[in-house]
Amino acid sequence: MNWISNYVRPRINSLFSRREVPENLWIKCPECGTMLFHRELSDNLNVCTSCDHHMQITPRERFSALFDGGVFAEVSVPDPVEDPLKFKDQKRYPERMKDAKKKTGEKEAMLVAEGEIGRTPIVAACQDFSFMGGSMGMYVGNAIIAAAERAVKLKRPLILFSAAGGARMQEGILSLMQMPRTTVAVDMVREAGLPYIVVITHPTTGGVTASYAMLGDVQIAEPNALICFAGPRVIEQTIRESLPEGFQRAEYLLDHGMLDRVTHRTKMRDELITITRMLMKHPPAVMGDLPAPEPDVAPPADDAGKPPEVAAEAKPETEAPKE
Ligand SMILES: [Zn+2]
Repeated sequence: MNWISNYVRPRINSLFSRREVPENLWIKCPECGTMLFHRELSDNLNVCTSCDHHMQITPRERFSALFDGGVFAEVSVPDPVEDPLKFKDQKRYPERMKDAKKKTGEKEAMLVAEGEIGRTPIVAACQDFSFMGGSMGMYVGNAIIAAAERAVKLKRPLILFSAAGGARMQEGILSLMQMPRTTVAVDMVREAGLPYIVVITHPTTGGVTASYAMLGDVQIAEPNALICFAGPRVIEQTIRESLPEGFQRAEYLLDHGMLDRVTHRTKMRDELITITRMLMKHPPAVMGDLPAPEPDVAPPADDAGKPPEVAAEAKPETEAPKE
């Protein structure tokens, strides 16, 4: 009996469990309840094809859709002190970090990258809501400073995608200190005369809206994104009044002068190209001149690999509109 229950049964179980269909092939839209096939959803940048609800998108997915040919170089971010307060709630902070790293495959809640969009060189930073609610800790502060320094050094505009539940409470006052730190970083970009563009995604709340997410030269938001300092539930309980329809949503804030634009995710890239080129005083981007490269050809190696006469032939076509 022991042999059967200890050896045979686990073998049989492991054989069957391996063949199970992965659960995440179909994703249910939290807004309208439609079941969406994962590939269809990712092709549409995680926007529901049925009701246009903008779901979470990871920084990596966003960057591969944003940068020309999906090519970008990560900017390294200095590591902060680990668990400075020895914080513990139901779980210890390092354990929470370990879980978040395992779940997302990312190091922390922000990714910084440099590359080109519509042949316009930029530096971009993107917050990851799936990593501990995109909470702003010391690493996120370091990431924004690294992004700002890189932008100033390379004389490129900085584009930031925000998504956060607020400050990271496990770092206490040290996370709140990221508000002045990131504000100084934004000032650095401004003093260098470079544009700082913020794209606010659902949800952006707490200390993040009290600092870098609201300091853009141009403030863009994704449709129906919740943007607030204190959430609607907290306000309702405090003032004991029901709030108007769509309160603290992107469209409401646009109507009340808090935002410059509300832009659909699928149109965001073109809009960012137009805005950065205008602010950098570049001529307009060439429309319809950006075919996706073959998946197995790496664009940066492309130019270098070509014989010089081919590169010279290709050049006037691509460079002409800039002059
Ligand atoms: Zn939907």
